[in-house]
Amino acid sequence: MEKMIAVLKVNNEAGEKGTEIKEVEIPKPREGEALIKVKATSICGTDRHIFKADPSILKSLKIPVIYGHEFCGNIFSFGPNTKSNFFKEGDYVSAEMHVVCGYCYQCRTGRGHICENTKILGIHEDGCFAEYVRVPLSNLVKLKENLKPEIASFLDALGNAVHTIQPVKISGKNVLILGYGPIGAMCASISEFLKAKKIFITEITDEGISMAKKWVKDEDLEGKVYIIDVKNKNNDEIYKQIYEICPEGIDTALEISGAESAINLGLKVLRRGGEISLLGIPAKSNINISDYTNDVIFKGITLYSIIGRRMFETWFQMLDLIESGLKLSHIPNKIYKGLENFFEGMDDFISHRALKAVFLLE
Ligand code: ZN
Repeated sequence: MEKMIAVLKVNNEAGEKGTEIKEVEIPKPREGEALIKVKATSICGTDRHIFKADPSILKSLKIPVIYGHEFCGNIFSFGPNTKSNFFKEGDYVSAEMHVVCGYCYQCRTGRGHICENTKILGIHEDGCFAEYVRVPLSNLVKLKENLKPEIASFLDALGNAVHTIQPVKISGKNVLILGYGPIGAMCASISEFLKAKKIFITEITDEGISMAKKWVKDEDLEGKVYIIDVKNKNNDEIYKQIYEICPEGIDTALEISGAESAINLGLKVLRRGGEISLLGIPAKSNINISDYTNDVIFKGITLYSIIGRRMFETWFQMLDLIESGLKLSHIPNKIYKGLENFFEGMDDFISHRALKAVFLLE
């Protein structure tokens, strides 16, 4: 039996005690599936939860499991009785790793991203921190050959960013992005690309602040993009800081951090009739909204909750944005050769040195 290198969550322990980089058998694609030879894969916030054995994720994990769900690669082979007029061996692809049932109410009404029976590869079944991964054919997305693997490796996350922006207005609007991790950084780039009027970015880590500032400097965005260090500041102080530059208030807030104070800040600085798109997941499942009456009801705002990517509208939209010139080369700022460096990559990701930690496998 042929072997491959893979990264597995092997027990409930946190850190390197709970994750092993080891040789396992190359999986066999089943009927309806393709086996993909992974070219590049990157670490997502969910993988950090798995690595740290956070209780919120442990109960969903099928241990031992190969984790990872962001990748690109080439079709290596097809499962038995599996033919496609659309895909052939060698095709350059990425994949939606939420496998949906196709039969529930949500799937049948065009909302597969909230399927009641979603299975996630890299959580419920083996994922892509490996040299090969098997994926249902219907989940594959064909890529243009000129899309660099280090970018194509994180389309899943880019899809979260594009989905966060999909329902709201950006062009000509004052946009607030709460959190400058990888998805916040993508939201910032997309907002700039879609010609937002002013962009405000709040961030609490020194690393995030300096990466955001570097982006503003490199892209010559001073006077258009404002970076706000929220460390040791309360929402009244931050509100004042934004209000001085933008007295009309924020039209559109994109909440990526999941922090209670950030969610409240977003609601507070929205102008009347504004919109907020909520992607970030709080550490605890309950949060307090400090002024529901004034910040939510009386302002007549619209809230959108975002999960996953619309299948497959979001995928086509992000590929179109990339083809139209959306710049993302600053996002994969830590690139490693091979999964043997997984622990180093995870450490860079956890300590915010990496916006995206990408492993090139060939
Ligand atoms: Zn379904």
